[in-house]
Amino acid sequence: MKIGQYELHSIETGTFALDGGAMFGIVPKGIWSKLHPSDEQNRVPMALRSLLIMDDKRKILVDTGIGTKLSKKNQKIYKIDQTEHNLEASLEKYDLETKDITDVILTHLHLDHVGGATYLKGKKQKLTFPNASFYVQKTHHEWALKPSEKDKGSFIKEDFKAIEGEGKLRLIDGYAMILPNIDVIIYDGHTIGQQLVKISDGINTLVYCGDVIPFTSHIRLPYIASYDINPITSIEDKEKLLSRACNGDWILFFEHDPVTEAVKVEKAENGYTIKETISL
Ligand SMILES: [Zn+2]
Repeated sequence: MKIGQYELHSIETGTFALDGGAMFGIVPKGIWSKLHPSDEQNRVPMALRSLLIMDDKRKILVDTGIGTKLSKKNQKIYKIDQTEHNLEASLEKYDLETKDITDVILTHLHLDHVGGATYLKGKKQKLTFPNASFYVQKTHHEWALKPSEKDKGSFIKEDFKAIEGEGKLRLIDGYAMILPNIDVIIYDGHTIGQQLVKISDGINTLVYCGDVIPFTSHIRLPYIASYDINPITSIEDKEKLLSRACNGDWILFFEHDPVTEAVKVEKAENGYTIKETISL
């Protein structure tokens, strides 16, 4: 897909699974399990889908997947599978290596979004994208260094320490046009200072939905993950995003939906629904 000067591609970095109950909050299992059948441990399959935005000069990646640093035990808990898809193989489809990436925009620093930014060489953390600048919201970085009891399990400080250590961290303070035609929208429901990435040439617009709308199922307003630290704000976040997406005919791109890469939405009588499914 092309928007303005950029070519956009979906980069599948692997799959994992989280508890279905936690993903859908107050929605009863009898309802969500029809949309997302769970395994024997009640986990539902999830994608780890990054977005590649490239032109002649820049190769930009949005989020980095879960990476390869987790222990065997945690890999099992999260059911991580990088056999069918992984970061390197997905980049190779576009003749790219990790060293070619010039910019990494991180929606937030939860382990399934920033884990792939570093890897272990012996016991040392190394940057997966040695030539890239990494963009994170300032408020989120502060939060990630001192998370609450509720969400501290979602952060592994070693995931992002090396970025700062190597002088590659660029802290963004609120709304910003990070690169030409690429700006960020900030939401505080899932975590403080999550930034969604919006690519627009004034005619076509795509938004990388991160954990504001992780699956297409979450287009339904009451579907809010229990991981979210401010659930009422999450509903407001979603409503704002969906309303803008309807009005502007935006494409919504999903990081975690196990099947669907992207959709356009429309407003129906009883909420928002999918108007069109889109594959990049
Ligand atoms: Zn996530």
